[in-house]
Amino acid sequence: MIPVVALVGRPNVGKSTLFNRLTLTCDALVVDCPGLTRDRKYGRAKWKDKEFIVIDTGGIDDDQIKGIAANIARQTLLAIEEADIVLFIVDGRAGLMAADLVIAKHLRKSQKNTVVIANKTEGIAKDSAMSDFYALGMGNIVPISASHGTGINYLREQIILPLVNACLQVEDAEKWLYEEAKTETLAVQENQLFNQQSQPIKLAIIGRPNVGKSTLINRLVGEERVIVYDMPGTTRDSIYVPMVHDGQQYLLIDTAGVRKRRKVTGKVEKFSVIKTIQAIEDANVVLLVLDAHQCISDQDLSLLGLIINKGRSLVIAVNKWDGMSSKKRDVLKETLNNSLGFINFARVHFISALHDRGVGNLFESVNEAYQCATKRVSTAMLTRIMYMAVAEHQPPLVRGRRVKPKYAHAGGYNPPIFVIHGTQVTDLTDSYKRYLINYFRRSLNIMGTPIRMQFNDNP
Ligand code: GDP
Ligand code: GDP
Repeated sequence: MIPVVALVGRPNVGKSTLFNRLTLTCDALVVDCPGLTRDRKYGRAKWKDKEFIVIDTGGIDDDQIKGIAANIARQTLLAIEEADIVLFIVDGRAGLMAADLVIAKHLRKSQKNTVVIANKTEGIAKDSAMSDFYALGMGNIVPISASHGTGINYLREQIILPLVNACLQVEDAEKWLYEEAKTETLAVQENQLFNQQSQPIKLAIIGRPNVGKSTLINRLVGEERVIVYDMPGTTRDSIYVPMVHDGQQYLLIDTAGVRKRRKVTGKVEKFSVIKTIQAIEDANVVLLVLDAHQCISDQDLSLLGLIINKGRSLVIAVNKWDGMSSKKRDVLKETLNNSLGFINFARVHFISALHDRGVGNLFESVNEAYQCATKRVSTAMLTRIMYMAVAEHQPPLVRGRRVKPKYAHAGGYNPPIFVIHGTQVTDLTDSYKRYLINYFRRSLNIMGTPIRMQFNDNP
């Protein structure tokens, strides 16, 4: 699990500017989609080979202009909840403001690792600029200028890196304990109930709030649920639910918190981006649940983006298919075809979790996706298919020279990676590379998982 650093502070203190600086070295933005994150933004950052996620708590919702203080509190609380480390940004020029005190109060309550960062301190006397903020009672203050870039390396090296390292150590220990507990739980179940040797397929159930994840999980698990291993922690942690279907074991990664919800008091938002990201990372197969009545939204597309970037196997369930006229169903299928056209590998199921229609069939596609993602394919077979593809459709010339693929082998699984060696193969056009991927997909009958290709030039 990657440590999470939240930037909190009043509007205009320079959080976005700092966010951009910290994530600059990494091009992979995790999520930047209005709606999914409300006005929170998630980016990947890296320093000395240590990766972390940065959350920016950004601007203000239009509908909340009137309650700015309330909005700050809400955004701040959500970001703090998801974070391991909090950078509390204040404005070194403006000095201490009432809103800073409100935020400080929440931070103290949260007991997260917090560091006060005074921004905009370029060209002013740093000591006097910072003296105000000692009143926050939160220890040393780190002066920076996010826009001029001063103090940023110090911040990375002396503040963020040690905290990230500490966090990883704690997480390692926790993970170990957690893995132990999980293994034990599974071992007990294995002996008592299933007496089976196969590994459980880790299946993450994700989707926006209210699409029906909880209802579906209850259906999938039915009465067979025996032990639920509840990972200790906050709302950002998923619940792992072991189950068995037709002799195959599964470990459901429940992001909806079926079990936990009753315990959690009203205030906490049901949907956590970090939880969804981590569920996707931990899963073998992702089951993305969509709502037939809401069709596909930007938020769904951005979840799909996360799944594909990670190379995860995918099954799509369009839920609440009950009570729709056949005309409406046709329209919906058409719309889905249009917006999901870019994913040609995932099976789509139309189901009703509430009325138990089509739910059982999901397992077939989940198993298929898992088998395909982990299928071993020999070098001889891959090379043969590659030659067939090239014979049917020659690659275009590059600078007047013929591109010559020579052999292919598997470079990894889950997702399958096929590596092609040859002369000038790195110069193949994107459309030819897509042709090859599709050719491999058809020839090997690979469904439910993305396929990655790598190209190596050999003289
Ligand atoms: P946010 O609302 O906290 O995300 O703040 P922004 O990053 O959008 O910055 C607010 C304003 O402060 C912008 O006009 C920035 O250009 C400016 N700003 C950010 N960092 C610095 C800095 O280090 N020095 C100065 N002088 N201005 C800055
Ligand atoms: P979650 O937030 O994704 O876990 O969604 P829930 O499982 O809590 O479901 C949200 C709402 O949708 C509840 O009122 C469910 O009863 C309803 N719902 C779930 N599945 C279906 C379905 O297949 N058909 C219909 N009509 N409603 C459903």
